[in-house]
This record gives sequence, C-alpha cells and structure tokens, in this order.
Amino acid sequence: MSEEKSLNFIEEIIEEDLKSGKHSSITTRFPPEPNGYLHIGHAKSICLNFGLAKKYGGQTNLRFDDTNPTTEETEYVESIKDDIRWLGFAWSNELYASNYFEQLYGFAVTLIKKGLAYVDDSSSEEIAEQKGTPTVPGTRNRFADRTMEENLQLFADMRAGKFADGSKVLRARIDMASPNMLLRDPIIYRIKHAHHHRTGDNWCIYPMYDFAHGQSDAIEKITHSICTLEFIPHRDLYNWCIENLGIYPSRQYEFARLNLTYTIMSKRKLLQLVNEGHVNGWDDPRMSTISGMRRRGYTASAIREFCDRIGVAKRENLIDFSLLEFCVREDLNKIALRRMVVFDPLKVVITNYPEGEEWLASENNPEDPAAGHREIPFSRELYIEREDFMETPAKKYFRLAPGMMVRLKSAYIIKCEEVVKDVNGNITEVRCTYIPESKSGADTSGINVKGTLHWVSVAHAVTAEVRLYDRLFKVEDVANAEGDFKDHINEASLTVLPNAYAEPALLNDTADDRYQFIRKGYFSLDKDSTPGKLVFNRTVTLKDGWAKEVKKG
Ligand code: ATP
Ligand code: MG
Repeated sequence: MSEEKSLNFIEEIIEEDLKSGKHSSITTRFPPEPNGYLHIGHAKSICLNFGLAKKYGGQTNLRFDDTNPTTEETEYVESIKDDIRWLGFAWSNELYASNYFEQLYGFAVTLIKKGLAYVDDSSSEEIAEQKGTPTVPGTRNRFADRTMEENLQLFADMRAGKFADGSKVLRARIDMASPNMLLRDPIIYRIKHAHHHRTGDNWCIYPMYDFAHGQSDAIEKITHSICTLEFIPHRDLYNWCIENLGIYPSRQYEFARLNLTYTIMSKRKLLQLVNEGHVNGWDDPRMSTISGMRRRGYTASAIREFCDRIGVAKRENLIDFSLLEFCVREDLNKIALRRMVVFDPLKVVITNYPEGEEWLASENNPEDPAAGHREIPFSRELYIEREDFMETPAKKYFRLAPGMMVRLKSAYIIKCEEVVKDVNGNITEVRCTYIPESKSGADTSGINVKGTLHWVSVAHAVTAEVRLYDRLFKVEDVANAEGDFKDHINEASLTVLPNAYAEPALLNDTADDRYQFIRKGYFSLDKDSTPGKLVFNRTVTLKDGWAKEVKKG
C-alpha cells in the first residue's frame, strides 16, 4: 500500500545523526504560542514534528511558548491541546516555557557574570538608532560599560519591580558590527508589569523569544528543533546562547512554512476576523483553523494526508487549496454515508402510484459494502430539485422534461406527463407516471434512461438548514496581495439555505457521521443543530469547482 518515498531533508539529517551515533534517539517539540487557535500551517508543523518522532521511535513535547504575558490565554491552551489530539497525535510531555522562568533568569545571571550581558537604560528608539544598518556597524552606548556587579544589582532590581515598563532592558553583549543584526547586542529581557496566565504576578520581567526558545529546547534536550524559514537569522543567536551557557546542544533546522491559496495563516489576522465579526468565531467553517476545518467536516486523516503530500520544502511556496480539498474528498468518498437532500424543491406527483408508501433499500456507501443500507420512503408526492426540470429542454439535457423519462435514485423510472403552473406562469408541480417494473435492483422494464435524480418523499421529508461555503478571500495570495488583507474578503462566502428537504434517515444518524448528499457534495452535521432542526455544513463540493473557475478567468 505505502509506496517507497524518498526522505525529506530533515529525515536525512536525522538518519545521519542516528547512524553516526550523535543521537541514540530523537526528541522534537511543537512550540505554539497560546495566542490564538491553531491553523492548517500549524497542522503541517504538528504532522512533521510528531511524525518524525513516531517514525524514528522518539518523543515529541508539546511546549507552550508563553513568554509574552499580554497576548496569551488559557482558552487557547485548551483549544491547542484539543486540536493536536484530534489530529491524532499524543505528546510525551506538556510543558510551558513559563515553567523555566527561574532557570532562564539564572541563565541571564550567568551571562552577566561572564561579562556577556548588561542592563541598558536607553529608550527603544535610541537602541534602534544605535544598531546601525546592515552596512553600517552599530555603536555601544555608555551603559555597556557598567560593571558586572552593577549589572547584577540592576537586573535583580528589575526583577524586584523597581523600574517601570520600558525603562530598562537586559542585552546580550555580542557584536555591534555583526552582519547579522540580531547579534548586535540583542535585548534578552524586558520589563512588563503584566499578569501572566500561569505565573500570575510573580514576574515583571520576561525573556525575549530568542532567550527563551533555544534555552527551553536545551532544558528539554530537544535534538532537532524544527522551525520555519523566518528563523534562519535567529539560528546564530540560538547557537551563541547555547555555547556561552554551556547547555545541551539542541540544533535548529528550518523548513518552508505552509502557505495556501485563498487563505491567511496568522493567528493575529485570524483574531481580527473573529473580533471584527467577519466570521462567526475561531471555528467558523470558513476559517483556516483546525477547529474550523473540523467543524466543516474535514477529517484528521485527510489533513494528515495533505501534510504528507506537500512534503517538506526548503523554499517558500504557495500550495493550491484544491489539493487539500482533493485529500478531503478522497477520504470522504470512502466513509461518507450517501443521503438524498433536495435544496430547492419542485413537487412531483406520481399519478399512477397508490396512496401510502413503500420503503426502498438504498446502499449507504457503494465504496464500502460494510456500511450496509438504509430504507427510503417512496410515495405519490415527491420533491426533486427545481433545476432538474426544464420545460423546454436544452440539447443533451438528460434530466426531467415534458415527455422525458429519468430514474429516481434507488426507486423507479418516471415519465413527465404534465406541467402545472400558477396564475403567474410559475411551475408549481410536475405530474408524472412511474413504471412499476423499473424498480431499482429488480428492473425488468427494459427501459434505459440517461439521467438519475435524487428526490425525497414530501410526507416524510425532514427540513434542514444547509450552509454552503465558498473561499473566504477573493485573491490567491492573500498575504502578499495589495492593501489590507481584509479588503479581499469574499462577502459571498456563506450561503444559507434555511429549508432544504432531507430523507428521514438523517434524523437517526450520529454527530460524527459524514455524508455525501447525492449530486450535491459532502456534508457534515453542524453543532448548531437542535433536536428540532438539523443544520449541515457543506464540507466540500463533489468536484473541483475552483479549478474550473480559474480556467474561465
Ligand atoms: P502565527 O503567525 O500564525 O501566530 P507563529 O509561527 O507565530 O504563527 P507559533 O504558535 O509560534 O505561531 O507556531 C508554533 C509552531 O508552528 C512553530 O514552530 C511555527 O514555526 C509553526 N508554524 C506556524 N505557522 C506555520 C506554517 N504556516 N507552516 C508551517 N509551520 C508553521
Ligand atoms: Mg508567533
């Protein structure tokens, strides 16, 4: 089943490290900042980090990178854990960078004692000015000359809360002429009198990302610390800290972040969509969040398959959203229960059918005989889709039209005998006859028809709300499109059909069931459903409509 796949560059590195004995096993981590819900880009990172540990028998830590007290919330921590579990992965340890605040403080003291860090009273503007430019070296100010004792005292006073936010920072003393601007005495601690979701008011100084991430990796003995390409310039600082602190030599490796067409992937921007009401919450089915995709009916296995197919690249690229949809369709085709739902009803009366009903067996999934079948009620009055009838049929129209025959799925062949209209000329009803010998599975009629329609029995139909989704943005490359990303929002991304008619089997199905509404697409039950009202989300269309539209221009 699984074809031989060539190794990605990170697997090559790992196999080399295991072969050479550099490592006897590997440890990776997934390090989200709990400042929002995870998106499909994070799913890529999760699949990669957890997938590598799984493949090579190692372990993966879930580490919340919670060093910024003002943006982080416990709600996000919980949603992140839910999403990872749902994707099918289990972490070895649940850890928080904030657990290491005391140790990180100690690391900073070590640097001060080595003469490798100093307290700077300059404003952020002054610090920026003194940094120079990529071609002009920066300059140190007089604060860089403070003695080690003075720095130790001031840093302790910073921790003790003696100074206001922004009045002082701790900087690493590295190289003001380095071509890598991040090495020009980077800030490693700042003062922030803010409540932290875990450490409360214990701290009023917080380490910067570059002084927390690598050290956290080292504390956890992470062997392969995998991040996205933006962090390449940070690698020198990552290594500088590890070397000068003499801690476990974790190594950072960078791969290209996932970018998807018609999608944004930034928690900060997703938060704006939520806060400004462009969507209905983080799990809105149009969102690129894992929770949104889950609510929309995407499966975890489809997302994992997608992450696997796109591979691990070293260069930025833009992946076509239709590849994700392809993976979703492939998976749903195997598991979705086939059901019939009419979105825009036209009444059909079978004039030669007796009163009452009969229950017809119909298979739940032709791809999976084990899925069994359900019974569908057939009666004299049915609904078909309004668009499946044409009074004056176009050429090659094989659906219903006066004098023409079609098959009703899992039922009989019917023939249109008469069209009934109201005073305004609108078609209100179509009168047909059925061929009793044409019953599906026992057809002795000898009649061949080209079209097969879905339908429901009027008396047995269950009304349901159906929500159809289109892409949330109108441009392919949202992140790089001109203007504000919100200028490109597709105002028509949600269509609600409040009164669709569903076959009654849908009432008995369970919440995790996935459906193919025959000829309509794949659907899933939404959490807004109540006992009195079913609500369905269209997960994905049956065919790739986007590719067609692109061609049309
Ligand atoms: P965002 O801007 O959406 O908040 P982030 O990178 O700041 O993204 P983190 O919570 O810091 O979010 O990310 C956790 C992990 O997920 C990091 O290792 C990060 O590199 C990875 N990650 C985030 N976005 C993507 C993406 N689009 N593709 C692949 N990996 C990603
Ligand atoms: Mg971040």
